[in-house]
Amino acid sequence: MISMRNVQKHFGELHVLRDIDLEVPKGQVVIVLGPSGSGKSTLCRTINRLEPIDSGDIAIDGVPLPAEGRGLAALRADVGMVFQSFNLFAHKTIVENVMLAPIKVRKIKKDAAHKHAMELLDRVGIANQADKYPAQLSGGQQQRVAIARALAMNPKVMLFDEPTSALDPEMVQEVLDVMVSLAKDGMTMLVVTHEMGFARRAANRVLFMADGQIVEDAEPEVFFTAPKSDRAKDFLGKIL
Ligand code: ADP
Ligand code: MG
Repeated sequence: MISMRNVQKHFGELHVLRDIDLEVPKGQVVIVLGPSGSGKSTLCRTINRLEPIDSGDIAIDGVPLPAEGRGLAALRADVGMVFQSFNLFAHKTIVENVMLAPIKVRKIKKDAAHKHAMELLDRVGIANQADKYPAQLSGGQQQRVAIARALAMNPKVMLFDEPTSALDPEMVQEVLDVMVSLAKDGMTMLVVTHEMGFARRAANRVLFMADGQIVEDAEPEVFFTAPKSDRAKDFLGKIL
């Protein structure tokens, strides 16, 4: 579902992604771990071309990502992304936030978009907040809206970049629960998170990044109990 071959990315002199080779099969849930600055966010951003790469190939469901143009918009829509900051439109209601992209990008009729948006809000447990504005919701609720908004495009892949790190501790679980349920439904997911609870409940695979490279690629059990590299041992010593 996600294929990256020999992907390289620099920011000026800084080599932020080095020789990234990654194949993620359909339905797999991959956790990405690593120290700050190791390239986790950049990895996510290159997968839907929010960030261009210098060289290499990226394909989603077998379709190579073009550098730009019409094809890019369609492919980007196949990849849902949820960030640390929810970035909801403040002057639109919750349901309008979820309906917006399907109407604009997918040219879905308003009635159908509304119906689908309400189903998705129900799925993330906040259908009863549909007519409120983002500022009226808690952080955890807003992040669940952001997930519903990403799902509204019927993506083939969902990328999550530290989706719970801006939340108050008591709101982390409600967001993780939604992510676990998505994983159980078979969504292909790449999740940058240090939430071990999520890793244990939902992950099939752990990637450990350091200095722009994938240093370890293992089953969660294996990685957490017997990391191979010193970098990973050091990292786990700090977060566990
Ligand atoms: P992580 O998400 O693992 O913390 P990032 O992917 O955000 O790491 O960043 C990897 C490296 O690239 C860091 O050194 C960061 O400072 C640098 N970087 C990220 N985005 C940019 C940018 N837009 N311009 C220049 N440097 C950047
Ligand atoms: Mg990051």
